Formats: sequence, structure tokens, C-alpha cells
Amino acid sequence: MSANSTTFVGAIDQGTTSSRFLIFNVSGEVVASHQLEFKQIYPQPGWHEHDPEELVSSVTTCIDGAVKAFETQGHSRDQIKAVGITNQRETTVVWDKTTGKALYNAIVWTDTRAQELVRRLKHRLGSSELTQRCGLPLSTYPSCSKLLWLLENVKEVKDAYEKGNLAFGTVDTWLTYKLNGGCANDVFVSDPSNASRTMFMNIETLNYDEELIDWFRIDRSKVHLPKIVPSSDTEAYGSLHDGALKGTKIMGCLGDQSAALVGQKGFTPGLAKNTYGTGCFLLYNVGPKPVISSHGLLSTVAFDFGEGKRMYALEGSIAVAGSSVKFLVDNLGFIENSSKLSALAETVEDNGGVTFVTAFSGLFAPYWIDDARGTIFGVTAYTQKGHIARATLEATCFQTRAILDSMEKDSGQKLTELAVDGGMCNSDLIMQTQSDLIGINVNRPGMRETTALGAAIAAGMAAGVWEKFEDLKDVNVDGSTVFKPKIPKSKADERFARWEKAVQMSKGWAN
Ligand code: ADP
Repeated sequence: MSANSTTFVGAIDQGTTSSRFLIFNVSGEVVASHQLEFKQIYPQPGWHEHDPEELVSSVTTCIDGAVKAFETQGHSRDQIKAVGITNQRETTVVWDKTTGKALYNAIVWTDTRAQELVRRLKHRLGSSELTQRCGLPLSTYPSCSKLLWLLENVKEVKDAYEKGNLAFGTVDTWLTYKLNGGCANDVFVSDPSNASRTMFMNIETLNYDEELIDWFRIDRSKVHLPKIVPSSDTEAYGSLHDGALKGTKIMGCLGDQSAALVGQKGFTPGLAKNTYGTGCFLLYNVGPKPVISSHGLLSTVAFDFGEGKRMYALEGSIAVAGSSVKFLVDNLGFIENSSKLSALAETVEDNGGVTFVTAFSGLFAPYWIDDARGTIFGVTAYTQKGHIARATLEATCFQTRAILDSMEKDSGQKLTELAVDGGMCNSDLIMQTQSDLIGINVNRPGMRETTALGAAIAAGMAAGVWEKFEDLKDVNVDGSTVFKPKIPKSKADERFARWEKAVQMSKGWAN
């Protein structure tokens, strides 16, 4: 057995609906894993919470479960050289620094309770200049608005703040803190891909920006913010305090979308990935300097692997992607499950003139049209279910093209290839349609656990399992499929122009 075949890296994937632990070999194959769903708490419309203790216990259960399965295969736990963390971004946890006890449920990234507060902030002098400093516009999405809501509305949080005991963190920080043993060891850190989602970090320096924090009227002497450290580091993240991997070092940390970009090996400028889940998240590597968008995209840190290995990304998201397929299953009863979508769409040759703008809750990047609603155009007596199925899958592909066009305009770089993952990429028809509409290759890896792989890469790079990005060239290459464009550019442009016309016509439906 070579040294390589005895070396493994673990990845904690703490997502919105479940936690997982995966153990990868040096080829990027999953050799063991364990997954656990946890409770979603919706106290009011628009509110979404998680129990912070359950986030941690679900992770430790997954570690123990995966290590057990790993050892059943004849491996031993000390072959796991390091652990990486990837996590749901923006979700906010507050706790008392003296006790290590959470003061409120975690407020999840999707939560919109801070809407009124954000409206007020937008009126404050200087609000339009924030994006230039931190990459994000004001909205309910970044962690800062969740923290401000907690400070205004929860007495325990306000009291801890007044006493100078309030600790604030995103899920990466909370997990690292707890997995290291909590307040006894006080490992209190965050990586730049997570910290860049708070609006407190300066996108250029990757340090907290005092002017931003002052603008939000937060007193730095009263709230503890985690130290921002590189995404890949041998010491900063400490080690697991107990459980099956007690003593194993945590050496990597990346927010979920950044981790997917790393897992797709999007290390160089001009590479992009799209994760086709319930919604879509596109990240486009723009290189070692941030690009502030003038086309409705977010600017974020892609990853920080130390000197010379720090990259920025432009980010765009689509609100409705896989959920439009579920809409055909659950609401219209067109098909019995999502995997049948392609078969239904293939019962017809094309969309038959139908365009479906799936703006169920308005349109996100790059359009940002709040008052658009789902609209189906071009229906005639000829229209079949298959045409609507095609128009549904095309809606996600058109929006992806719109975002990629904006990314190219903002960055001045041409996209060379799109790497894909997420549930919807299982459909060959969707991926072929995507390639046709963007006119470049779409690359779908064989192993689709790219988010967890990204966390494993961050940890493995620090641990010396891989030393340089080039060492990863053979990782996760088996079983990949490349979809090449099959229609001329003029045809793709014509179809896209029709989509854009439909987008304009879907405006203003909701008052
Ligand atoms: P999330 O992580 O957001 O829960 P997933 O990456 O698991 O999402 O993807 C789930 C979504 O993908 C669902 O909305 C589902 O409708 C869609 N999906 C899964 N398989 C297919 C398929 N074969 N064709 C089209 N859509 C699919």
C-alpha cells in the first residue's frame, strides 16, 4: 500500500437542512459518510431558525457515525490527517463569552425578519457606499442585519452586549468554538469567505473595517468578533475536543458556495461553478483583486489559502431553480418526481413557443425585480405538458446565462467553462440546454459532493496531503461528463432575447 492510500481527510458539511461528515481519500473519493437532518424552526412567516446546540450535536453524531463506517472497512481513525468545515453562510449565532451558552436560536440566512430594520438603515447617510467597502449591498441577507435585530429585540442579547460579554459568530465560528471545547479553550475564529458575508469585513484587507462597524453603530468594546484567519491553516482552527476524532486538527474552513468552487477546482480566474439546488448559486473566480459589480452581483472572497493563493469571486443567485421542478411535481402533478422532468420534456422537440418566467417570489440576480411573478407566455391550443416542462427547465438555464453575461461584463474576462453540481444537474437535458445557451462547455463531475470536497481540500492543503493546486489535477476526474454547445450562437442569442422580453413583461404583477 502506498502512503497515499493510507491518507484521508474529513469534511464537516453543516448545511441548511442537514449536517454531514464525509471522509475522502487523496483521489477525492468518498470512502465513508454519515448524514443527519435537524429541526427547522419557523416561529412566524419569514422567520427561520435553528437550535445552535442541535447544529453542533448533529455534527458530532455524523463524525462518530462516519468514523464507525470507516473503521468497519478496515481503516483506522488516525489515518484521517485533518478535518475541514464547510457551512451554511450568513446564519448568525450569539452567545455569552463567559459561559459559552447561546443566547438565542441561530437566525438562518433565509430569514427576513430584519426587513423593517434594513429599510431604516437604507435611509442612513452613507448606506450606498457600503458595497464598495464590503462587497455586499444592505439587505436582510448578511449577518449584520441579523445581529442588529437581536440587539434591538432580545433582552438577553442586549444585556450581554452592555456587560461586554456578547460573542457573535457565523456557523463556522460557532462550530469551531464548540468543537474545540467551548469557553474553556476559546478558539474564536472565522475564515474570510464567511466573514465577507457579515458586512463588517473590508473586502480589500480581509480585516474588520472600523468605519463599517461604526456605521452600524456597534460598539467594538462590547461585542466580541472572531479573529479572521486564512481558510486553510494548520493551527488557527484548533482540534476536536472529544468524540471519535478527539485530537484531530481542524485545518480548513469555507462557506458552502466557496467550498463548492474549491471542490470544483475553480482556482484560476475565469472559472465558474453553478450549484443547481432548490435555488442556484453561481460563483465566478475573478482573481486576486475584488471586483465590485455594477450589474447586480455580490462581491465576495472565494477562498484565502495564504500568500498568493487568495482569490475573489462575483456571486449571483437564482431564487427558483430546482423548486420550479418541484412545482411541476407537487402543484401541477405533471410528473411523480423531479427525476422524470427530462423524460416529460423530451416528449416534445422544443418549447413550442412557451416561455416560463419562474419569478415565484420576484427575480434575483441580475434583474432584482421584486414585483415580478411567475408568468407563462405563448400558450396556445397546441401547448402540451412537455412544452411547459421544457420552458420550466429553460428558465433556470436562461437566468444562469443572464448572470454569467453580467459576470463577464463586470470582470472583463471571458468564461471558459462552467462547472456544475446540485440536484438539477442530474438531468442531461438541462445540462445540454445550459451549454447550448451559454455557448461553452458545461462540466459535470462524477462525484457531486463538491462542497464537502472543497472543505477537505482546504484542510488537506494545510495538512500537506496536497501541497499545491496542481497536486489536485487528478482529484475527482473519473466519471465526469462534458456537455458541448450544439446550436449556433445566433440561435442561442435569439432564444435568449425572447426570454429577456418575457422578463420585462412579467414585471409589476405584484403590487
Ligand atoms: P438543496 O441542496 O437546495 O436541497 P439539491 O442539490 O439536493 O438541493 O437539489 C434538489 C433539487 O434538484 C430539487 O428541487 C429537485 O427538484 C431538483 N432535481 C433533482 N433531480 C433532478 C432531475 N433529475 N431533474 C431535474 N431536477 C432535479
